Amino acid sequence: MELAQRVQALTPSTTLAITAKAKALKAEGHDVIGLGAGEPDFNTPSYILDAAKRAMDEGMTKYTPAGGVPELKNSITAKLKRDQDLTYTNEQIIVTTGAKHALFTLFQVLLNKGDEVIVPAPYWVSYPEQIKLAEGTPVIVSAEESNDFKLTPEQLKEAITPKTKAVIINSPSNPTGMMYSESELKALGEVCLEHDVLIVSDEIYEKLIYTDEKHVSVAQLSKELYDQTIIINGVSKSHSMTGWRIGFAAGNKTVIKAMSNMASHSTSNPTTIAQYAALAAYTASEEKVDEMKEAFKERLDVLHKRLVQIPGVNCAKPSGAFYLFPNVKEAVEQGGFENVDAWVKALLDEEKVALVPGSGFGSPDNVRLSYATSLDQLEKAADRIERFVNKHQ
Ligand code: PLP
Repeated sequence: MELAQRVQALTPSTTLAITAKAKALKAEGHDVIGLGAGEPDFNTPSYILDAAKRAMDEGMTKYTPAGGVPELKNSITAKLKRDQDLTYTNEQIIVTTGAKHALFTLFQVLLNKGDEVIVPAPYWVSYPEQIKLAEGTPVIVSAEESNDFKLTPEQLKEAITPKTKAVIINSPSNPTGMMYSESELKALGEVCLEHDVLIVSDEIYEKLIYTDEKHVSVAQLSKELYDQTIIINGVSKSHSMTGWRIGFAAGNKTVIKAMSNMASHSTSNPTTIAQYAALAAYTASEEKVDEMKEAFKERLDVLHKRLVQIPGVNCAKPSGAFYLFPNVKEAVEQGGFENVDAWVKALLDEEKVALVPGSGFGSPDNVRLSYATSLDQLEKAADRIERFVNKHQ
Protein backbone atom coordinates (compact mmCIF):
# COMPACT_ATOMS: atom_id res chain seq x y z
CA MET A 1 0.00 0.00 0.00
CA GLU A 2 1.52 3.32 -1.06
CA LEU A 3 1.27 5.89 1.72
CA ALA A 4 0.75 9.61 1.26
CA GLN A 5 3.83 11.71 0.62
CA ARG A 6 3.24 13.67 3.79
CA VAL A 7 3.91 10.66 5.99
CA GLN A 8 6.76 9.41 3.86
CA ALA A 9 8.54 12.68 4.57
CA LEU A 10 8.18 12.30 8.35
CA THR A 11 11.33 11.74 10.39
CA PRO A 12 10.78 9.07 13.03
CA SER A 13 11.11 10.36 16.60
CA THR A 14 14.62 9.61 17.91
CA THR A 15 13.30 9.83 21.47
CA LEU A 16 10.80 7.07 20.86
CA ALA A 17 13.32 4.91 18.98
CA ILE A 18 15.82 4.91 21.86
CA THR A 19 13.05 4.39 24.43
CA ALA A 20 11.84 1.37 22.43
CA LYS A 21 15.36 -0.12 22.31
CA ALA A 22 15.79 0.46 26.07
CA LYS A 23 12.45 -1.24 26.74
CA ALA A 24 13.42 -4.22 24.58
CA LEU A 25 16.70 -4.64 26.53
CA LYS A 26 14.78 -4.37 29.80
CA ALA A 27 12.36 -7.06 28.64
CA GLU A 28 15.38 -9.32 28.02
CA GLY A 29 16.24 -8.92 31.70
CA HIS A 30 18.94 -6.21 31.47
CA ASP A 31 19.21 -3.56 34.18
CA VAL A 32 18.61 -0.56 31.90
CA ILE A 33 18.59 3.04 33.12
CA GLY A 34 16.39 5.11 30.83
CA LEU A 35 17.21 8.79 30.70
CA GLY A 36 15.40 9.24 27.43
CA ALA A 37 11.82 9.96 28.41
CA GLY A 38 10.45 13.48 28.54
CA GLU A 39 8.02 13.02 31.38
CA PRO A 40 8.03 13.45 35.15
CA ASP A 41 8.29 10.19 37.10
CA PHE A 42 5.87 11.31 39.84
CA ASN A 43 2.27 10.19 39.84
CA THR A 44 -0.33 12.87 39.19
CA PRO A 45 -1.15 14.57 42.54
CA SER A 46 -4.03 12.90 44.40
CA TYR A 47 -6.34 15.95 44.44
CA ILE A 48 -6.28 15.82 40.63
CA LEU A 49 -7.02 12.09 40.58
CA ASP A 50 -9.92 12.75 42.98
CA ALA A 51 -11.32 15.46 40.71
CA ALA A 52 -11.28 13.04 37.77
CA LYS A 53 -13.06 10.36 39.80
CA ARG A 54 -15.64 12.89 40.91
CA ALA A 55 -16.18 14.02 37.32
CA MET A 56 -16.89 10.47 36.25
CA ASP A 57 -19.29 9.89 39.15
CA GLU A 58 -21.10 13.11 38.30
CA GLY A 59 -21.60 12.08 34.69
CA MET A 60 -19.01 14.32 33.05
CA THR A 61 -18.48 11.64 30.45
CA LYS A 62 -20.05 13.17 27.34
CA TYR A 63 -18.87 15.43 24.51
CA THR A 64 -17.93 18.98 25.44
CA PRO A 65 -17.55 22.08 23.26
CA ALA A 66 -14.64 21.44 20.83
CA GLY A 67 -12.43 24.08 22.44
CA GLY A 68 -13.02 22.92 26.03
CA VAL A 69 -15.52 23.44 28.86
CA PRO A 70 -16.04 27.05 29.98
CA GLU A 71 -15.04 26.27 33.62
CA LEU A 72 -11.62 25.08 32.45
CA LYS A 73 -11.20 28.05 30.11
CA ASN A 74 -12.03 30.32 33.06
CA SER A 75 -9.37 28.63 35.16
CA ILE A 76 -6.83 29.05 32.33
CA THR A 77 -7.56 32.76 31.94
CA ALA A 78 -7.25 33.09 35.73
CA LYS A 79 -3.91 31.24 35.61
CA LEU A 80 -2.61 33.53 32.86
CA LYS A 81 -3.65 36.56 34.92
CA ARG A 82 -2.13 35.18 38.12
CA ASP A 83 1.16 33.98 36.67
CA GLN A 84 1.81 36.36 33.78
CA ASP A 85 -0.54 39.27 34.50
CA LEU A 86 -2.05 38.66 31.06
CA THR A 87 -5.72 39.26 30.35
CA TYR A 88 -7.53 36.92 27.99
CA THR A 89 -11.20 36.21 27.37
CA ASN A 90 -12.50 32.68 26.88
CA GLU A 91 -12.75 33.35 23.14
CA GLN A 92 -8.98 33.64 23.12
CA ILE A 93 -8.44 30.20 24.68
CA ILE A 94 -8.66 26.74 23.18
CA VAL A 95 -8.19 23.62 25.31
CA THR A 96 -6.47 20.91 23.30
CA THR A 97 -5.43 17.28 23.46
CA GLY A 98 -2.05 18.17 24.97
CA ALA A 99 0.16 21.10 24.02
CA LYS A 100 1.34 18.97 21.13
CA HIS A 101 -2.06 19.09 19.47
CA ALA A 102 -2.36 22.81 20.16
CA LEU A 103 0.81 23.28 18.11
CA PHE A 104 -0.31 20.84 15.44
CA THR A 105 -3.66 22.60 15.04
CA LEU A 106 -2.04 26.03 15.09
CA PHE A 107 0.25 25.17 12.19
CA GLN A 108 -2.69 23.65 10.30
CA VAL A 109 -4.71 26.86 10.52
CA LEU A 110 -1.77 29.19 9.98
CA LEU A 111 0.32 27.83 7.15
CA ASN A 112 -0.13 27.70 3.41
CA LYS A 113 2.15 25.59 1.25
CA GLY A 114 5.68 26.98 1.42
CA ASP A 115 5.07 29.34 4.32
CA GLU A 116 8.15 29.41 6.53
CA VAL A 117 8.38 28.96 10.28
CA ILE A 118 11.69 29.73 11.95
CA VAL A 119 12.71 26.97 14.34
CA PRO A 120 15.75 27.69 16.50
CA ALA A 121 17.95 24.59 16.95
CA PRO A 122 18.30 22.67 19.18
CA TYR A 123 14.54 22.19 18.91
CA TRP A 124 11.85 19.90 20.24
CA VAL A 125 11.59 17.09 17.71
CA SER A 126 7.94 17.62 16.79
CA TYR A 127 8.18 21.26 15.62
CA PRO A 128 9.71 20.64 12.17
CA GLU A 129 7.54 17.59 11.55
CA GLN A 130 4.32 19.38 12.46
CA ILE A 131 5.25 22.30 10.23
CA LYS A 132 5.91 19.90 7.34
CA LEU A 133 2.58 18.17 7.97
CA ALA A 134 0.91 21.57 7.46
CA GLU A 135 2.85 21.93 4.16
CA GLY A 136 4.97 24.66 5.68
CA THR A 137 8.74 24.86 5.57
CA PRO A 138 10.70 24.69 8.81
CA VAL A 139 13.66 27.07 8.63
CA ILE A 140 16.18 25.73 11.11
CA VAL A 141 18.50 28.33 12.62
CA SER A 142 21.29 26.95 14.79
CA ALA A 143 21.67 28.78 18.05
CA GLU A 144 25.24 28.80 19.34
CA GLU A 145 26.18 26.65 22.31
CA SER A 146 28.38 29.54 23.44
CA ASN A 147 25.20 31.63 23.68
CA ASP A 148 23.48 28.96 25.79
CA PHE A 149 21.75 27.75 22.63
CA LYS A 150 19.68 30.92 22.41
CA LEU A 151 18.69 32.58 19.17
CA THR A 152 20.02 36.12 18.76
CA PRO A 153 18.00 38.97 17.19
CA GLU A 154 20.62 39.15 14.41
CA GLN A 155 20.17 35.46 13.59
CA LEU A 156 16.41 35.90 13.60
CA LYS A 157 16.57 38.94 11.33
CA GLU A 158 18.81 37.11 8.88
CA ALA A 159 16.43 34.14 8.68
CA ILE A 160 13.34 36.20 7.91
CA THR A 161 12.12 36.20 4.29
CA PRO A 162 8.86 37.42 2.71
CA LYS A 163 7.52 33.89 3.33
CA THR A 164 8.17 33.89 7.07
CA LYS A 165 4.97 33.44 8.99
CA ALA A 166 6.12 32.63 12.50
CA VAL A 167 8.99 31.83 14.85
CA ILE A 168 8.97 29.37 17.73
CA ILE A 169 10.30 30.43 21.10
CA ASN A 170 10.49 27.63 23.66
CA SER A 171 11.60 28.87 27.07
CA PRO A 172 12.64 27.00 29.19
CA SER A 173 13.73 24.80 26.33
CA ASN A 174 13.48 21.16 25.52
CA PRO A 175 16.19 19.86 24.98
CA THR A 176 18.61 22.42 26.47
CA GLY A 177 16.81 23.62 29.63
CA MET A 178 17.95 27.16 28.84
CA MET A 179 15.62 30.13 29.16
CA TYR A 180 15.49 33.58 27.64
CA SER A 181 15.76 36.66 29.85
CA GLU A 182 13.22 39.45 29.58
CA SER A 183 15.63 41.64 27.62
CA GLU A 184 16.48 38.84 25.21
CA LEU A 185 12.78 38.22 24.60
CA LYS A 186 12.18 41.90 24.07
CA ALA A 187 14.92 42.10 21.46
CA LEU A 188 13.57 39.07 19.59
CA GLY A 189 10.04 40.43 19.91
CA GLU A 190 11.03 43.74 18.34
CA VAL A 191 12.38 41.95 15.28
CA CYS A 192 9.11 40.01 15.00
CA LEU A 193 7.05 43.19 15.22
CA GLU A 194 9.20 44.92 12.65
CA HIS A 195 8.68 42.08 10.15
CA ASP A 196 5.17 41.03 11.21
CA VAL A 197 6.24 37.56 12.28
CA LEU A 198 3.91 35.70 14.64
CA ILE A 199 5.53 34.37 17.83
CA VAL A 200 4.61 30.87 18.93
CA SER A 201 5.63 30.88 22.58
CA ASP A 202 5.86 27.34 23.94
CA GLU A 203 5.80 27.77 27.71
CA ILE A 204 5.18 24.16 28.71
CA TYR A 205 8.18 24.14 31.13
CA GLU A 206 7.20 27.43 32.76
CA LYS A 207 6.79 25.92 36.24
CA LEU A 208 10.13 24.11 36.20
CA ILE A 209 12.72 26.81 36.77
CA TYR A 210 15.53 26.25 39.27
CA THR A 211 17.19 29.65 39.46
CA ASP A 212 15.91 32.94 40.83
CA GLU A 213 14.90 33.99 37.32
CA LYS A 214 11.21 34.47 36.93
CA HIS A 215 9.42 33.06 33.92
CA VAL A 216 8.50 35.79 31.47
CA SER A 217 6.22 35.35 28.51
CA VAL A 218 7.02 37.45 25.46
CA ALA A 219 3.30 38.33 25.41
CA GLN A 220 3.78 40.28 28.65
CA LEU A 221 6.26 42.72 27.23
CA SER A 222 3.95 45.08 25.34
CA LYS A 223 0.47 45.36 23.93
CA GLU A 224 1.91 44.82 20.44
CA LEU A 225 3.72 41.67 21.52
CA TYR A 226 0.59 40.41 23.25
CA ASP A 227 -1.23 40.72 19.92
CA GLN A 228 1.63 39.08 18.05
CA THR A 229 1.95 36.01 20.29
CA ILE A 230 0.17 32.69 20.63
CA ILE A 231 0.99 31.10 23.98
CA ILE A 232 1.16 27.31 24.19
CA ASN A 233 1.09 25.62 27.57
CA GLY A 234 -0.48 22.72 29.44
CA VAL A 235 -0.50 20.53 32.52
CA SER A 236 1.69 17.65 31.28
CA LYS A 237 5.00 18.78 32.76
CA SER A 238 3.85 21.14 35.53
CA HIS A 239 1.42 18.72 37.18
CA SER A 240 2.88 15.41 36.06
CA MET A 241 -0.10 14.81 33.79
CA THR A 242 1.50 13.66 30.53
CA GLY A 243 -1.05 10.90 29.94
CA TRP A 244 -4.12 13.06 30.51
CA ARG A 245 -3.49 15.01 27.31
CA ILE A 246 -4.58 18.51 28.23
CA GLY A 247 -2.91 21.60 26.83
CA PHE A 248 -4.05 24.98 25.60
CA ALA A 249 -3.35 27.86 23.25
CA ALA A 250 -4.06 31.50 24.09
CA GLY A 251 -4.03 34.45 21.70
CA ASN A 252 -5.71 36.12 18.76
CA LYS A 253 -9.37 35.17 18.73
CA THR A 254 -9.63 34.63 14.96
CA VAL A 255 -6.77 32.15 15.13
CA ILE A 256 -8.27 30.44 18.19
CA LYS A 257 -11.68 30.21 16.52
CA ALA A 258 -10.14 28.59 13.44
CA MET A 259 -8.29 26.16 15.70
CA SER A 260 -11.54 25.27 17.47
CA ASN A 261 -13.25 24.62 14.11
CA MET A 262 -10.36 22.42 13.09
CA ALA A 263 -10.45 20.56 16.42
CA SER A 264 -14.18 19.98 16.05
CA HIS A 265 -13.36 17.87 12.98
CA SER A 266 -10.35 16.09 14.42
CA THR A 267 -10.62 15.43 18.16
CA SER A 268 -14.21 16.67 18.77
CA ASN A 269 -12.96 17.69 22.22
CA PRO A 270 -10.18 16.82 24.65
CA THR A 271 -11.26 14.01 27.01
CA THR A 272 -14.00 15.35 29.25
CA ILE A 273 -12.74 13.68 32.44
CA ALA A 274 -9.22 14.97 31.82
CA GLN A 275 -10.58 18.50 31.38
CA TYR A 276 -12.09 18.35 34.88
CA ALA A 277 -8.80 16.98 36.21
CA ALA A 278 -6.96 19.92 34.61
CA LEU A 279 -9.51 22.29 36.14
CA ALA A 280 -8.48 20.98 39.58
CA ALA A 281 -4.81 21.41 38.60
CA TYR A 282 -5.30 25.05 37.65
CA THR A 283 -7.49 26.01 40.60
CA ALA A 284 -5.70 24.29 43.52
CA SER A 285 -2.66 25.58 45.39
CA GLU A 286 0.67 24.84 43.72
CA GLU A 287 2.22 23.16 46.72
CA LYS A 288 2.61 19.83 44.92
CA VAL A 289 3.99 21.51 41.81
CA ASP A 290 6.62 23.17 43.98
CA GLU A 291 7.45 19.90 45.72
CA MET A 292 8.10 18.22 42.39
CA LYS A 293 10.17 21.18 41.29
CA GLU A 294 12.34 20.92 44.42
CA ALA A 295 12.95 17.24 43.69
CA PHE A 296 13.97 18.08 40.12
CA LYS A 297 16.29 20.80 41.34
CA GLU A 298 18.14 18.40 43.63
CA ARG A 299 18.49 15.91 40.80
CA LEU A 300 19.77 18.57 38.43
CA ASP A 301 22.41 19.66 40.95
CA VAL A 302 23.61 16.10 41.53
CA LEU A 303 23.64 14.97 37.90
CA HIS A 304 25.18 18.15 36.53
CA LYS A 305 28.00 18.03 39.06
CA ARG A 306 28.77 14.43 38.17
CA LEU A 307 28.62 14.94 34.40
CA VAL A 308 30.99 17.88 34.23
CA GLN A 309 33.61 15.78 36.04
CA ILE A 310 33.66 13.27 33.19
CA PRO A 311 36.48 13.96 30.73
CA GLY A 312 35.28 15.05 27.28
CA VAL A 313 31.78 15.90 28.52
CA ASN A 314 30.98 19.61 28.61
CA CYS A 315 27.73 20.91 29.99
CA ALA A 316 26.49 24.36 30.92
CA LYS A 317 24.03 24.31 33.80
CA PRO A 318 20.49 24.85 32.53
CA SER A 319 17.88 26.99 34.30
CA GLY A 320 14.78 24.90 33.76
CA ALA A 321 12.86 21.93 32.30
CA PHE A 322 14.28 18.50 33.25
CA TYR A 323 17.01 17.94 30.70
CA LEU A 324 20.74 18.26 30.45
CA PHE A 325 22.20 18.69 26.99
CA PRO A 326 25.95 18.10 27.27
CA ASN A 327 28.36 18.35 24.38
CA VAL A 328 30.12 15.00 24.12
CA LYS A 329 32.14 15.67 20.96
CA GLU A 330 35.48 15.28 22.74
CA ALA A 331 34.48 12.04 24.45
CA VAL A 332 33.20 10.69 21.13
CA GLU A 333 36.43 11.58 19.32
CA GLN A 334 38.63 10.27 22.12
CA GLY A 335 36.76 6.99 22.00
CA GLY A 336 37.17 6.72 18.23
CA PHE A 337 33.42 6.61 17.58
CA GLU A 338 32.11 7.65 14.18
CA ASN A 339 29.61 10.08 15.66
CA VAL A 340 27.46 10.81 18.70
CA ASP A 341 24.74 8.40 17.52
CA ALA A 342 27.29 5.54 17.53
CA TRP A 343 28.51 6.62 21.00
CA VAL A 344 24.94 6.60 22.34
CA LYS A 345 24.32 3.18 20.86
CA ALA A 346 27.51 1.76 22.38
CA LEU A 347 26.63 3.29 25.77
CA LEU A 348 23.29 1.52 25.67
CA ASP A 349 24.81 -1.79 24.52
CA GLU A 350 27.73 -1.79 26.96
CA GLU A 351 26.45 0.03 30.04
CA LYS A 352 22.69 -0.11 29.55
CA VAL A 353 22.15 3.63 29.87
CA ALA A 354 19.68 5.15 27.40
CA LEU A 355 20.26 8.76 26.32
CA VAL A 356 18.94 10.53 23.25
CA PRO A 357 21.43 11.63 20.58
CA GLY A 358 21.33 15.35 19.81
CA SER A 359 21.00 14.73 16.06
CA GLY A 360 17.22 14.45 16.45
CA PHE A 361 17.15 17.89 18.03
CA GLY A 362 19.30 19.47 15.32
CA SER A 363 22.46 19.46 17.42
CA PRO A 364 24.67 16.49 16.48
CA ASP A 365 27.48 17.05 19.02
CA ASN A 366 25.21 16.78 22.05
CA VAL A 367 23.12 14.24 23.90
CA ARG A 368 19.98 14.77 25.94
CA LEU A 369 19.61 13.28 29.40
CA SER A 370 16.32 13.54 31.21
CA TYR A 371 16.67 13.72 35.00
CA ALA A 372 13.02 12.88 35.56
CA THR A 373 14.03 9.75 37.44
CA SER A 374 15.18 8.94 40.99
CA LEU A 375 18.44 10.24 42.46
CA ASP A 376 19.61 6.66 42.93
CA GLN A 377 19.17 5.91 39.27
CA LEU A 378 20.86 9.15 38.29
CA GLU A 379 23.91 8.39 40.45
CA LYS A 380 24.10 4.92 38.97
CA ALA A 381 23.77 6.33 35.44
CA ALA A 382 26.58 8.81 36.10
CA ASP A 383 28.82 5.96 37.36
CA ARG A 384 28.14 3.99 34.22
CA ILE A 385 28.68 6.90 31.82
CA GLU A 386 31.94 7.69 33.59
CA ARG A 387 33.09 4.07 33.34
CA PHE A 388 32.13 3.99 29.65
CA VAL A 389 34.02 7.18 28.83
CA ASN A 390 37.10 6.06 30.80
CA LYS A 391 37.08 2.72 28.98
CA HIS A 392 36.98 4.44 25.58
CA GLN A 393 39.79 6.95 26.03
N1 PLP B 1 6.42 21.39 23.86
C1 PLP B 1 7.57 20.90 24.32
C2 PLP B 1 8.79 21.73 24.24
C3 PLP B 1 7.62 19.61 24.87
O1 PLP B 1 8.78 19.12 25.32
C4 PLP B 1 6.45 18.84 24.90
C5 PLP B 1 6.45 17.45 25.42
O2 PLP B 1 7.44 16.76 25.39
C6 PLP B 1 5.27 19.41 24.42
C7 PLP B 1 5.29 20.69 23.90
C8 PLP B 1 3.96 18.66 24.40
O3 PLP B 1 3.42 18.44 25.63
P1 PLP B 1 1.98 17.76 25.78
O4 PLP B 1 1.47 17.45 24.45
O5 PLP B 1 2.20 16.54 26.62
O6 PLP B 1 1.16 18.78 26.49
